[in-house]
Amino acid sequence: MSAQLDVKPGLDIETRLFIGGDFVDAVEGGRIPVINPHDNSLIAEVAEARAADIDRAVEAARRAFPAWKRMAASERGRLLGKLADAIEADGENLAYLESIDTGHPLRDTRGLDVPRTIVTFRYFAGLADKIDGRVAPADPGFFNYVTREPVGVVGQIVPWNFPLMFTSWKLGPALAAGNTVVMKPAELTPLTTLRVAQLVARVGIPPGVVNIVPGYGNTAGQYLAEHPGVDKIAFTGSTLTGQKIVQASAGNLKRVQLELGGKGANIVFDDASIDAAVGGSAFAIFHNQGQACIAGSRLLVHEKIADEFLYKFLALARSIRIGNPLDPATEMGPLTSPGHRDRVLRYIDVAKQQGSTILTGGNAPTDPALQAGCYIEPTVVTANPDDRVCQEEVFGPFVSITRFRDDEEVIRMANSTQYGLGGGLWTRDLQRAHRVASAIRSGMVWVNTYKRVSPASPFGGVGQSGYGRDLGPESIHEYTFAKSVVMNIDAQVPPYYKR
Ligand code: NAD
Repeated sequence: MSAQLDVKPGLDIETRLFIGGDFVDAVEGGRIPVINPHDNSLIAEVAEARAADIDRAVEAARRAFPAWKRMAASERGRLLGKLADAIEADGENLAYLESIDTGHPLRDTRGLDVPRTIVTFRYFAGLADKIDGRVAPADPGFFNYVTREPVGVVGQIVPWNFPLMFTSWKLGPALAAGNTVVMKPAELTPLTTLRVAQLVARVGIPPGVVNIVPGYGNTAGQYLAEHPGVDKIAFTGSTLTGQKIVQASAGNLKRVQLELGGKGANIVFDDASIDAAVGGSAFAIFHNQGQACIAGSRLLVHEKIADEFLYKFLALARSIRIGNPLDPATEMGPLTSPGHRDRVLRYIDVAKQQGSTILTGGNAPTDPALQAGCYIEPTVVTANPDDRVCQEEVFGPFVSITRFRDDEEVIRMANSTQYGLGGGLWTRDLQRAHRVASAIRSGMVWVNTYKRVSPASPFGGVGQSGYGRDLGPESIHEYTFAKSVVMNIDAQVPPYYKR
């Protein structure tokens, strides 16, 4: 039985756990309330997975693994392609659910989240039968080949900022490479993941290959990370939780992949196209209300052009249309939860206490229609590189502005945090672009653009931003291990023990 949501006529989604190809109730019967951050109304209650449910899901994934691994890779690819098609056909529903669950404006869920999810599944559908090995040099008379084997049962724990897109980032490479999965979506935003589970069943991906278990982090998540039946944990979330995952994984030494926080430096040089940099920098921080690990949350602007840049940037920030995510004209929705909204507001206070000037924003919008929701105005503040708001991830529509004098100084500033995920630079000077891109310590750098993410390109960080890579052929290595097979084909080997 599926639960009828009172949100869109005719749209029903499953609110139960997806285990072994069936939607099932949680053993202990707990429920998680799912809230619309536009007005804090209750959208639905989904089943809450606890230990016994995680056990069931891991067992189902374990049972499904041998056949999924043995299946022709082209067939696994075909099924992933069918899933992409099903997501495309269901795109309007998914966009709608993502908007009411996360607060992303419909124009983004329709224009970015859904299309990116589709192309990512298509990319991994195509990659499934292109995972090859190599022949290693061997002594005469020997033959040595190296293949990539799936890791086994993979636990995947994801956050609430891009839940639909993360189904493709995580399931895509894991399934293409022949693993089976137990995915725990964030407790705040399980709706689109459960909808994808319905599509997984509909396109004929065998039971147990994908299991979806919404639950809380410190119960279901922790238990999954500790589980001896899980061979790998792929985690996206905060650095603090990533550290807990590493500790929880120690029992059976499972493999761990961590996509963690960031504090993206976005550098505007004095030779940049100012208009391009203004628009791109606004997208870098305000898209998805700044709730992005790669957000350009530290704007470093050359002192020569800082006044002109700021004049235009502040005008743009003030003009962003804030509103109900379901209004197609809305450019910025609410933050995803009241708790997170309060956290961002506290950071605005921290900025003030540390001497920042609030150049624009800093409050909830005054529009009466938005008072019940988790809204915050686009906020721009001045700050120094050592200030807490330049060092800690705020994860909101909040950007610090720091002026710099020359390339060496700005490279130092860019590299002055514990993170190393994404960053950008705006310049017309080709040599400078290469030199600075090389000097920035991060997994991704964008030049004269920002947040261009492609399924074909590795995504991940260094330092406290974690290790391992989502996306690209690199992600296949994360979900496989190298197996070396050495054969004696005609070598005469002297006996080791003469008798
Ligand atoms: P979070 O770490 O609180 O939660 C992420 C997930 O981990 C959720 O599913 C949560 O239930 C689970 N979790 C929480 N405690 C756990 C525990 N002890 N054991 C196992 N699982 C646990 O993060 P969040 O607040 O949901 O997400 C925001 C964070 O995610 C930000 O720091 C952001 O930078 C990061 N993020 C990183 C990337 C990336 O690719 N690097 C992408 C998006 C978001």
